[in-house]
Amino acid sequence: MRRGYPDTDVFYRRLDRDFPLAAAATGVEIVDEEGRAYLDACGGAMVASVGHGVGEIAAEVAAAARLGYINGNQFTHRWVEELASELAAVLPAGLRRGYFLSSGSEAVEAAIKLARQVWVERGRPGKWKIVSCAPSYHGNTLAALSLSGRPHYRRIYGPLLSDFPSIPAPDPYRRPQAPGTTGEALEEELQRQGPETVAAFLVEPVGGSSSGAVVPSAGYWRRVVDSCRGHQVLLIADEVLCGMGRTGRWFACEHFGVTPDILVLGKGLGGGVAPLSAVVAREELVAEIAAGSGAFNHAQTYSHHPVSCAAGLATLRYLKRHRLVERAAALERPLRAALDGLRDDPRVGDVRGKGLLAAVELVADRGSREPFPRAARVAERLTAAAFARGLVVWPNVGHVDGERGDLVMVAPPLTIGEPEIEQIARRLGAALEELA
Ligand code: PLP
Repeated sequence: MRRGYPDTDVFYRRLDRDFPLAAAATGVEIVDEEGRAYLDACGGAMVASVGHGVGEIAAEVAAAARLGYINGNQFTHRWVEELASELAAVLPAGLRRGYFLSSGSEAVEAAIKLARQVWVERGRPGKWKIVSCAPSYHGNTLAALSLSGRPHYRRIYGPLLSDFPSIPAPDPYRRPQAPGTTGEALEEELQRQGPETVAAFLVEPVGGSSSGAVVPSAGYWRRVVDSCRGHQVLLIADEVLCGMGRTGRWFACEHFGVTPDILVLGKGLGGGVAPLSAVVAREELVAEIAAGSGAFNHAQTYSHHPVSCAAGLATLRYLKRHRLVERAAALERPLRAALDGLRDDPRVGDVRGKGLLAAVELVADRGSREPFPRAARVAERLTAAAFARGLVVWPNVGHVDGERGDLVMVAPPLTIGEPEIEQIARRLGAALEELA
């Protein structure tokens, strides 16, 4: 066991706990240096979509590493070209150009800058506001955090953040008829702000960990698309978490027949083998910039990096060859059935999700849907109890009011089998019992 402060030179994210040292990982299993095995039921942070230790991805990455650093202003290379064209082949029609970066936060920042640049190039510099939802999470860099409806992440950084308009996120569990859930909240907010001032609406098509795998209705999406098109507001879909097959379609927006103007990808895009994210834009947006200023006014040293793009290319090919997107769709039912079994416990208020993205919501009172008091730390304690049983799940707190709200996310590698899904439910159930 490696200890946190003061026994190490590593500045851990959490300084109040010990971490096992991961020594090896294969498929859905991570093994520590003491030989203890953990079932990775959330791909780390909803990242390891093709499982761990995939030899062919490692080999592609090693080949690209031999090329080393190639600057995107001076050269192109085969990994970025092939990744972009193989990605374009699975993208919804109309989306095509991929701009590759490292993290989801960076890609969100790039996406909102792209939206802004488009309006400036169209001669409409008054359009600059970005509307987003609460709860939501779009990243930890300052603009992405400004757009994230996560009050407890933002609190101490208040003076550094920008003010953007925010609307309630869909919440079919607690507020099924509210404007945030029906999609009317966007129209109301655009009227309030003046649509001539709004550049884009940034939204997760299927909720990530901040709201807990919320699946909006088709009606929600019809209203949102109508408002965006009617008021010339660009639609930016943040699929950092829910994209790349996680929900049983290549992209979550496909469940609703929606093609955004800009799509943001990350996490599973690189299979977790190398940091990789992307901003994907409609061809006409890029063509407008090409005919206008001639360049996207945004650059980062490590954009289009060969090693990251090689990880993305090999991951994409692996997803296709093993038909893992179809597999995620087919496993939605067994995963849901297994997690639904936890409802015998009265603290399980809701089980929801799409494909292999699922959330279990824990409540103090199932009838009133009243959350637990924050001090009870239910999601964290449940996650810790599961970890002690060799099960890795992802806790989330505060989605109800910024303080209260307990979610446990289950989002295993898309390679998982039904016996391991049963294992997840069994170990989570045992951890819940322990919590009593
Ligand atoms: N967008 C969504 C929907 C996310 O879930 C995350 C991370 O969890 C991000 C953006 C930020 O990605 P990253 O942590 O790679 O910067």
